[in-house]
Amino acid sequence: MPLYSDIDVLVHEVGPRDGLQATDIMMSTAGKIAWIKALKNAGVRKIQVGSFVPRKLLPQMADSAEIVKATKEMGGVHVAALVPNFKGAQNAMAAGADTLNFVMSASEPHNLNNVRKTHEQSLMEFEKIVELRNSEAQYSHVTISGGLATSFGCTIAGDVDPKVVLSLAEQYVRLGADRMGMADTVGYGNPQQVKELFSEFIQIADGRDVSAHFHDTRGLGLANVFAALEAGVREFDGCLGGLGGCPYAPGATGNVVTEDLVFMLESMGYRTDIDLQKLLAARAVMEEHLQGEPTHGTFVKAGPPKGFSQVQTSAGAG
Ligand code: ZN
Repeated sequence: MPLYSDIDVLVHEVGPRDGLQATDIMMSTAGKIAWIKALKNAGVRKIQVGSFVPRKLLPQMADSAEIVKATKEMGGVHVAALVPNFKGAQNAMAAGADTLNFVMSASEPHNLNNVRKTHEQSLMEFEKIVELRNSEAQYSHVTISGGLATSFGCTIAGDVDPKVVLSLAEQYVRLGADRMGMADTVGYGNPQQVKELFSEFIQIADGRDVSAHFHDTRGLGLANVFAALEAGVREFDGCLGGLGGCPYAPGATGNVVTEDLVFMLESMGYRTDIDLQKLLAARAVMEEHLQGEPTHGTFVKAGPPKGFSQVQTSAGAG
């Protein structure tokens, strides 16, 4: 069941997590809250506001519980948080997150490097998380998403076997995932590959919502979005200003640029209910609180083409 029935495509802003964890610049808690508020005002309905990982690993994410609480207080935003393990999930649920984005890398060497776990160990954590949610009444509303990072290629292993990716997807279904996603974490994927793998992934998901997370590292971000749309995906992650570049490749572009993504979807006739002008205002708030961080994107430079109008937006009505 889609989270919202009145829009065609759900755009999930992940900048406050993916964008901020990739930079050494520390955004203040107040800055994050101002940015999230501006996103909400633009009509962004789902935001990944932080990551529940050990403080010493990612000091940028140390205030994630506070950010989850502050965003919940704003109302009107579905609050997602990234969790790599059971402990993180416990903390995210206690803070009040609506969705837990559990992440495991489809490339096992990447998973070992990233979260120090084999696939089997990560899946055991996932199972415990589902059990915790199912056993505690106060968490019954929490959605658990099974995410597969590096599904289209890996900086350590190179190619990632699609059979491995799809068998991990089957494990998520077996263990009780509510929804699932695949990520091109390092920008290796191409549209042909994306269309083929997502077509099979959607079959395995068997009616569960499926989301896609693309990086524009090699310029194929929006082409991959289009390919995933063709396969039937209706939820996409993006980062305002294309934050999330690779710390090991200075100058490399990051995630798909949210405002360019919204422009593409709206110009194709998909209703997102995100107001592009207000989204640019949110981008300005983000830049103000993240000075020195390179940002990307083309819509911000060129503006809308003559005669362009959005499908329909309700942002700012209230
Ligand atoms: Zn990412």
